[in-house]
Order: sequence, then structure tokens, then C-alpha cells
Amino acid sequence: MQRNMEKTVVITGASSGIGAALAERYAKAGWNVVLIARRRDRLEEIAKRCGVKAKILVADVTQNSFENDLTTFLEKMPGDLFHVYANAGAGAAGRTDKLNIEDYERHFAVNVFGVLRTLRGAQSKLKSSKGRFIIIGSLNSYLAFPLGTPYNMGKFAVRALAESLFAEEPTLGFSCSVVCPGPIATELLSKNNKGEAVQLGDDFPKIHALSPAKAADRIFKKVLRGRREIFLSIDSFVLVALHRHFPSFTSRLIRIGYGLFSAKALKLVGMVNPDSI
Ligand code: NDP
Repeated sequence: MQRNMEKTVVITGASSGIGAALAERYAKAGWNVVLIARRRDRLEEIAKRCGVKAKILVADVTQNSFENDLTTFLEKMPGDLFHVYANAGAGAAGRTDKLNIEDYERHFAVNVFGVLRTLRGAQSKLKSSKGRFIIIGSLNSYLAFPLGTPYNMGKFAVRALAESLFAEEPTLGFSCSVVCPGPIATELLSKNNKGEAVQLGDDFPKIHALSPAKAADRIFKKVLRGRREIFLSIDSFVLVALHRHFPSFTSRLIRIGYGLFSAKALKLVGMVNPDSI
């Protein structure tokens, strides 16, 4: 029997930022694209840019029903499912002594349990196509930066998931990659802990960040090469390598940096989340 060579990619969090840019990059390469997020209007706009091979699924990854909805949706998709991106995510910032449990629960619902629901909803298709599950982690999957405890915890957790999937690959029947970007210029940086967009004044400092299109292009190429652990810049790679070999040195360096620049960092975080500093 001839194997169907049509390829499909599924991307959660495809209504903006890295997810939207990834959708466009895969569409440009001729893949079927499934875009998932909560904002229908945004998804429709991105799908139009991706062309006829794009399909949308309006869904919230924090809902228990998402797992079944995804499985049902994918059963109807033509072609082999090759790549599934667990990309939907949210930021969370503030002083650890000011954040409350709800901040952690809200954050974990998207950044940890949302990733698990995506995995569970897609795993039977991934198995049959011997595909790849790709988790969008962060530099914070390795380094615990100050004023980001929930985000650090969530991103450490999904890296542990990626390592567990790698270990179980012989019985799972599909592979896994974890992508660890540094700062990318997306809406994430201007949303508060409840996920609401915040209007930032002109005095909000410009953060040196990679464009989502550049990030997506690098991710696409490295995932196609079958890389298990993906960094998007040489400085991220060096920082993580340094942390692996000299963890107490890098942790101390981060603490010294925070000591020197805490007033500035608190001001910045306070512009987005005034209650959390
Ligand atoms: P954006 O805010 O631009 O995108 C986040 C996406 O997630 C949106 O499409 C949003 O869509 C979706 N999303 C959020 N909550 C839910 C939910 N409950 N259900 C379904 N979809 C949801 O941010 P980025 O593109 O920057 O973030 C993408 C990933 O990259 C995240 O995992 C983030 O942690 C990671 N990352 C980002 C970095 C950065 O500097 N920007 C650096 C390192 C990692 P909608 O609101 O329509 O549901």
C-alpha cells in the first residue's frame, strides 16, 4: 500500500507570536497546518495567510474537553501527522513573596497541563505516523531567573516531560524535541498574570529580542533535522552549557545581577503587574 506523504503540523497557541509565525513557516513549506487557540478572529486571519491547507480549532488548552476534541479533530485530518507543537503559553511575573497560589494555578493550567493535554490528544496520531512532539520550553527551563517563579517552575516541568518522553521513545513510538528560546518579541511580554493585554507606555524599555519569524525559521529547520534540544542563538546555548558544567557559578551570577539591577527589574515587572512587586 502506498504511504500517504501529505504532512500535517498541529500548533497550539497559533493566534499570535511564535505559534503564528511557525504556522506560516510550515505553510510556506507546503504542510497542512492545524492552528489552535481561543481567539477565532486571530486564527482566521493567520489561516488566511497560510492558505488553503490551513484548518482552525478554536479551543482552550486548560479545559479537560480539549484532549478529546483534539483527538476527534485529528481523526478527520488527511495525511500523516508528523509534528505537534505544544506552544500555547503565558507569562507570570512578580516577587515570590507577593504572588498567590492562584497565580501558580492559572499559569500551570496553560504552561504545564495544557502541554499534557496536547500530548494526550495527539499521541495516537503521533504514534501511527512515527511523528514528533515538540514542546516550546524556554531558557527558563534551565535557569531560574528572578521575578519569574511560576514561569521557571512550569518551564522546568515541561523540560522534565521532554526528557521522560525521550527515555520512553522505544515504547511510545514517536519522538520529542524541546525548544528553549531566549526573549522573542511577542505579545507575551506585555500580558499580565491573568493573561490580559496591558497598554505599556513609551517609557517601557525596549527588550532586545528575536523576531517571531526568525525564531520560527530556526525552529522549523532544527526540528526537521531531528534535533532533540533546540536553542535559537549561540548566547543561549553557551549560557545553558555554562550552567550545566558550573551551576553554582551561573546561579550566583544571576543573583549578583539581580542584586545590582533589582530596582530596575521591579519597576519593569511593576508596569505589567503592579500588584506583584
Ligand atoms: P504570545 O502571547 O504571542 O502567544 C501565546 C499563544 O498562546 C497565543 O496564541 C494564545 O492564544 C495562546 N494561548 C494562551 N492561553 C491559551 C489557552 N488557555 N488555550 C489555548 N491557547 C492559549 O506568546 P509567545 O508566542 O511568546 O509564546 C509562545 C510560547 O513561547 C510560550 O510557551 C512561551 O512560554 C514560549 N516562550 C516565549 C518567549 C518570549 O520571549 N516571547 C521566550 C521563551 C519561550 P489565545 O489568547 O488566542 O488563546
